[in-house]
Parts: sequence; C-alpha cells; structure tokens
Amino acid sequence: MLRRLFSRLAPGLMRYIEAESRAWMLRCPRCGYQISVWDHGGMRYRARGKAYRMGRCRGCGQVGMLRLYRPDRGDSPAGPR
Ligand SMILES: [Zn+2]
Repeated sequence: MLRRLFSRLAPGLMRYIEAESRAWMLRCPRCGYQISVWDHGGMRYRARGKAYRMGRCRGCGQVGMLRLYRPDRGDSPAGPR
C-alpha cells in the first residue's frame, strides 16, 4: 500500500501527511456521516481547490460526492465557499 511505502521511505513526511489528512474531513450530504480523510483510507497533502471527492460513505453505504472540508480553518460542511 502507498502509505506503507511512504512511511518507510520518508517517515517525517509521512507524519506530516498523516496530520494533514486527519485535519481534512469528509462529510456525506445524504446522511451527514463524517470521517477524516485519513480514517477513510486516503491521503491529502498540500491540496487545494476541489472541495468534493468521490467515495463510498461508511454511514449510508452509498457512493457519491463527499464534501471535503477543513474545520480547523473555519471551513464549514454546509456547502461550497
Ligand atoms: Zn452517507
């Protein structure tokens, strides 16, 4: 898996990526389920722009666009900025 490769090659960078990925949250617009990008199995690193990501919600099990936002920067899951 990609994460494992990263943690072996660059543990410092990996810790940074993990912190970033945990700061980003995904929210399902259908059921309101929220999970961090990291816990969802993804990584996010120095990313900007796109506020949505395709994925399967673990709350309702549906595949669709999940809202991507960052609460520690005052971002709200209510909608696009
Ligand atoms: Zn859902």
